[in-house]
Amino acid sequence: MKKQFAIIGLGRFGTSICKELYHLGHEVLAIDKNQKKLDEVKGFATHTLNVDGTDESALQKVGIRNFEHVIVAIGEDIQASILCTLHLKDLDVRKVWAKAQNDYHHKVLEKIGADRIFHPEKDMGNRIAEFLTSEKVIDY
Ligand code: ATP
Repeated sequence: MKKQFAIIGLGRFGTSICKELYHLGHEVLAIDKNQKKLDEVKGFATHTLNVDGTDESALQKVGIRNFEHVIVAIGEDIQASILCTLHLKDLDVRKVWAKAQNDYHHKVLEKIGADRIFHPEKDMGNRIAEFLTSEKVIDY
């Protein structure tokens, strides 16, 4: 079933989610405040929008609350990530998933109601360690 996703922040993490969801046939709105990043995903997103994720009224104007899932993939600018997540929750977005830079960032995102929080490098590191120690890996 086709779903609607919005991704805010098109770094490596946001871009790979965007491309994969689009490839799987979902509707994907890609948002970034940097036009260059948006140009790079044209052809891999249903729509692209140059919007600052910290601007609540701009998020409201684009109808962000109509998207079932919104992924906040802003990384380095922790303040922007927190503010954006807060606006999305205030605008009643049903599922807000956010990327955390560190444990403090995680705690704040949790407090303000992020529905799921990722630590891409840490999560992938754990998965690789699990995979390497699983019995399915043949030692050769
Ligand atoms: P990655 O590791 O996934 O490459 P990162 O953790 O280094 O990313 P950033 O490069 O800081 O994260 O941010 C990812 C994207 O988010 C960038 O394309 C940046 O332009 C965008 N971004 C940052 N702040 C905002 C904002 N307030 N509104 C919209 N987009 C933003």
